[in-house]
Amino acid sequence: MKIEDQIAELHHLFSPCYLCPLNCGAKRNKGEIGLCRAGKSIKIASYTLYKGEEPPLVGNSGSGAIFFSYCNLRCVYCQNYNFSQLGRGKEISIEDLANIMLKLQNKGALNINLVTPTHFIPDIASAIFIARKNGLMLPIVYNTSGYESVKIIKLLKGIVDIYLVDFRYGTDTAGKKYSKVPYYTEITKAAIKEMYNQVGNLLMERGIAKRGIIIRHLLFPNGINELKNIVNFIVNNLSKDVYFSLMSQYVPVYQAKMYPEINRKITKREFFLASRIVRDAGIRNGWIQYK
Ligand code: SF4
Repeated sequence: MKIEDQIAELHHLFSPCYLCPLNCGAKRNKGEIGLCRAGKSIKIASYTLYKGEEPPLVGNSGSGAIFFSYCNLRCVYCQNYNFSQLGRGKEISIEDLANIMLKLQNKGALNINLVTPTHFIPDIASAIFIARKNGLMLPIVYNTSGYESVKIIKLLKGIVDIYLVDFRYGTDTAGKKYSKVPYYTEITKAAIKEMYNQVGNLLMERGIAKRGIIIRHLLFPNGINELKNIVNFIVNNLSKDVYFSLMSQYVPVYQAKMYPEINRKITKREFFLASRIVRDAGIRNGWIQYK
C-alpha cells in the first residue's frame, strides 16, 4: 500500500472513530468527543528538545518531543494529567504541526518524538507527509502506552521508524484498576508483536537510534509480578535481544492516594529484585534507571 493510501485509510477511521482499541465510534468530525476526550482538531500541550528519554533517543542534543493532549488511558497516577486527562493544550492545524517538526529538526533534534499520538494519528500522519516533502529527515518515534489497535499499527508501516512502548501492566486486573481500560495485556501484546515484526530490534548508528522498538516498564510499588509477566512475554514471544528499559521513577501523584498499594515510591529492595528478574531472564540490551 502506498503511504498516501495508508494516510487516507487512517483518516477514514477517524469519524466515527476507531483509532484505538476502545473503538468508541465518536463522530469527531461532527463535534462529538471520544472516550479519550479528544475532539476534531489536533491539540498539543507543548513541544521541546527533550532529554528525558533513553540515551540513543536523546544523544547530546535531545529528542524532538511533541506532547499531545488527551489519552485513551486514564492512569490514576499520571504525571502528565494536566494535559493527558484534563486536556490542557492548544489546538493547531496539520500545517502548524508539520512546521513544528521542521522547527525541532532545525534546533538539532535527533528524532520527532510523538508522545501519546494515537487519537490524532491521521492528522499527524498527514503532517509527517507534508514535513517530509519540506525536508524532514529525522526518524519518527511513536511514544505509546502500547494500548493500540493492530490495524492502526499496520497502517503506520513506513511512517513510523521507532516504537517506544511503555508496557504498563502484566495483568488485565491492573490495567482495569489503574488505567480504566479492558484487556490491556491481550491488546498490548498483540500490538507489540506487530510493531516488532514491522521494525525489528533497535538499530543504531554511532549510538543514535534509527529504527526498531524499545520497550519500557515503569516499576510500581508491589509490582514485581507485573514485571515478571512482561519479561516472560518479551523473552518467549519476541527476543532476549529486545532493548528493555526498566524505570524506577514512579511517584504517587494525581489520584494515586486513593489506591494505598501504589501510594508510595518503590523501595530499593523492589528495584533490586526487579533488576535481577530482568537480568536472570537473559535480557541484556537496554537500561536500568534508578533514581
Ligand atoms: S481514539 Fe478516542 S475517540 Fe477514537 S476510538 Fe479511541 S477513545 Fe474513541
